[in-house]
Amino acid sequence: MSKNPWGTVAERLDRNRYETDTEQSHILVNQAEAERAGAGPLLARICPARVYSEQANGEIGVLYAACLECGTCLAAAPPGVLSWSYPRGGMGVIYREG
Ligand code: SF4
Repeated sequence: MSKNPWGTVAERLDRNRYETDTEQSHILVNQAEAERAGAGPLLARICPARVYSEQANGEIGVLYAACLECGTCLAAAPPGVLSWSYPRGGMGVIYREG
């Protein structure tokens, strides 16, 4: 099997740069609604950047600085679980490979 000339997905993601908004997350989780809907495992599984994690206290952790702005979580999350917007102007992911 020949090696992919563009590298693995992980290698390609590593080439992205981020302008991180250190004052404001663009992703907010309604923890009560997430718990009620059992959304933790879904969010932890679907995000390609592993932004979401299930915490020991039952809450969903959000590492918003790693977000690729793909919108998958917003499409898949049960209603009322997420509040998501693009990062404030000029911040967020900066793609280097399309
Ligand atoms: S928009 Fe995409 S990368 Fe960002 S948190 Fe949602 S699923 Fe993860």
